[in-house]
Amino acid sequence: MRQSVYFERMPVDVDAAVIANRRLSPDYNVLAFDAPDLAASVRPGQFVMVKTSRGLDPLLRRPFSVFEVLRGADGRARGFSIFNKAIGTGTRLLSDVEAGARLNVLGPLGRPFEPVDPPAEAWMIWPVVPAGRSDQDATCGAAFGVFWVCRHSSRMARACFGARN
Ligand SMILES: Cc1cc2nc3c(=O)[nH]c(=O)nc-3n(C[C@H](O)[C@H](O)[C@H](O)COP(=O)(O)OP(=O)(O)OC[C@H]3O[C@@H](n4cnc5c(N)ncnc54)[C@H](O)[C@@H]3O)c2cc1C
Repeated sequence: MRQSVYFERMPVDVDAAVIANRRLSPDYNVLAFDAPDLAASVRPGQFVMVKTSRGLDPLLRRPFSVFEVLRGADGRARGFSIFNKAIGTGTRLLSDVEAGARLNVLGPLGRPFEPVDPPAEAWMIWPVVPAGRSDQDATCGAAFGVFWVCRHSSRMARACFGARN
């Protein structure tokens, strides 16, 4: 019998060391945890429950999506990070936590999704809107945009221009 996607890989409850706390702004930070077992089994779309303090307040763990799986030079999963927005007691504690601290983390949890291959060919609909410029300028601008997309993408692209005067 096929196992449920929830329990194909059992969640682990680990006392994970914080590797780094990267502050992005007063409200946002990225916390990296050292947790090889958890990181090795996490799949896209899953989350973890983080105990935001060592004490009883806040008592309950808070859920966070796994932001990145962190890999060592050998390519093996070493840990993971979460992207935290400080909105209340627990998330503010996570905002101020220092590297070296240890926090309880339970995961991975939740139903993962399967990444799909990008399409081999993409269509692009590009409306040409002169917006104060001549039609010729606008068309050249759009053509350059399409060229740029094709140049920087390995996919085959087809463009469809639409314009009215
Ligand atoms: C599956 C899942 C994944 C999540 N992933 C992330 C993530 O990757 N990054 C992240 O920053 N957050 C994420 N969240 C939200 C995060 O769990 C909450 O922001 C966190 O639990 C709040 O805890 P707190 O102790 O800071 O706030 P509390 O002290 O519990 O709440 C403070 C106040 O904020 C209100 N509040 C609580 N949560 C929210 C919210 N999400 N939005 C608006 N108001 C709220 C409460 O009603 C209360 O008034 C996720 C939530 C779920 C369910």
